Amino acid sequence: MALRDIAGQEKALRIMFGMLRRSRVPSAMLLSGDTGIGKRLAAVNYAKAVNCLGPADFDCCDACASCRKIDAGMHPDVSITFPEKDEIKIDAVRRLEESLYLTPLEGVKKIAIVDDADAMNLNAANAFLKTLEEPPDDSLIILVSSNPDRLPDTIRSRCVAIRFYPLSREAFRKVVSGSVAPERIEYVSRLSMGRPGLALAGDLQKDMDWFTAVLDDMVREGSKEAWTDKETMRTWLDMAFVYLRDIMVFRITGNESDMLYEKGNRNFPKKIEIRSILDTYKSLQKVKGLLDFNLNKSITWNYVSNMMKTVIG
Ligand SMILES: [Zn+2]
Repeated sequence: MALRDIAGQEKALRIMFGMLRRSRVPSAMLLSGDTGIGKRLAAVNYAKAVNCLGPADFDCCDACASCRKIDAGMHPDVSITFPEKDEIKIDAVRRLEESLYLTPLEGVKKIAIVDDADAMNLNAANAFLKTLEEPPDDSLIILVSSNPDRLPDTIRSRCVAIRFYPLSREAFRKVVSGSVAPERIEYVSRLSMGRPGLALAGDLQKDMDWFTAVLDDMVREGSKEAWTDKETMRTWLDMAFVYLRDIMVFRITGNESDMLYEKGNRNFPKKIEIRSILDTYKSLQKVKGLLDFNLNKSITWNYVSNMMKTVIG
């Protein structure tokens, strides 16, 4: 694929192509937005476009030796750093720096992609900041993050920020059409909230069943906390948004066929005020936004339990 094939991110691509056309590629950029919407693919294909050897009208040709090596993860001038056990440590940052300070062997630029850049621990981030402050000539750093708020301001402020968004129905359809049965695309699109990466990677139905089980448990008196870590909290909250949306649709249309949430419909309160659903939605969004700030899991569980008890209890 090429950069132009990233679906549903017209705004981000316009900025990225603009920089290529004007030969104004910055020394650092930050691609941010939800999980599973194409940020890392865009980063890799941008690296291909920058170092492409073929004629490609400011994109990549996807066929030359450079493009093929980058796709295979074997280009000597392009590195990708990932977290190991949820953390990017200082050693990884050191390796990245060393590679950036070498003269490009084959490419136009030395490029370092850092996936889940917000997983850098404090030491790693401090070391990384020095590289950002004095970037080597002919280097490009591309940070990818679905939690950009977790990155220190000092790092964020030195990157050109490019925001990615969940996909529209049409764009989603285009991305998953080869992998999801046509009659299920609409359902999967809504359940994953426009994030094809999630639809293709995980089992959304299983997540939804798990959400139901936890919710049923949550609204019982004396329930025990069922979230194991921050990621399970995040998944649960995402599912809760779908659930609340369903209650709202049901409340407005009275029609069960418009709903995504297939199990436990019996729990749907018939008389709840739309305002109270909206308030709950907003409160849960606030909780999700605070997840990255060391939110206490037990306190959050109690807070959310009480809220859900009032909505559906
Ligand atoms: Zn090429």
